[in-house]
Amino acid sequence: MRILLVEDEPEMAAALSAALNVYDMVVDHVTTLAAAEEAVSLVAHDAVLLDRQLPDGEGLSLIPKLRARADGTPVIVLTARGELSDRISGLDGGADDYLAKPFAIEELMARLRAVLRRPVALRSDLVLVGSLTFDFGHREASVGGRPLELPRRELLVLETLLRRMGRTVLRASLEEAVYGFDDEIQSNALDTHVSRLRRKLADAGVEIHGIRGVGYLLKRQP
Ligand code: CA
Repeated sequence: MRILLVEDEPEMAAALSAALNVYDMVVDHVTTLAAAEEAVSLVAHDAVLLDRQLPDGEGLSLIPKLRARADGTPVIVLTARGELSDRISGLDGGADDYLAKPFAIEELMARLRAVLRRPVALRSDLVLVGSLTFDFGHREASVGGRPLELPRRELLVLETLLRRMGRTVLRASLEEAVYGFDDEIQSNALDTHVSRLRRKLADAGVEIHGIRGVGYLLKRQP
């Protein structure tokens, strides 16, 4: 298991690295936001332990950058700020968990195990593709920061495509996600939802590819 530790306090970092090594974890330790961004672009980690107050900025700003690359690596925020409002902003910022210093290493390990048990698709609440942001927690979409008003079924289509971004989603799976048992499904209704979504996402830097008779696939525009 490989962990990225983003922490600028030398004593804290040394103690955490030593403890994680005891649990047979490989630790990549960086001390700045810039180095963290480089590290996540170079190798896949199983989890990120992230300090908030870093010499070159707010640690939380790493999370949307991770998610922008469809990287669902779980992030546990470690910080001295243990106030409720800070915990909420940390979790709303896309962190998978939040641990206030000082903490017992056993608690950190338990939380690490917990986030690693979650299915990848559920780990991240926020996905960024092109200029499209989708918040799975609040189920809201926005393009370039502007909220996108989507009727329920378009929202469900987009959500389903984003959960399996880059992979083809079968028509049947999309229809299952969008329609209830009692809904009458018109044969071309799904295509209508998709074409409306495409229009609304025209400037968002994402593409919805149709594969005739098979399904749809959403990806970032090259
Ligand atoms: Ca710090």
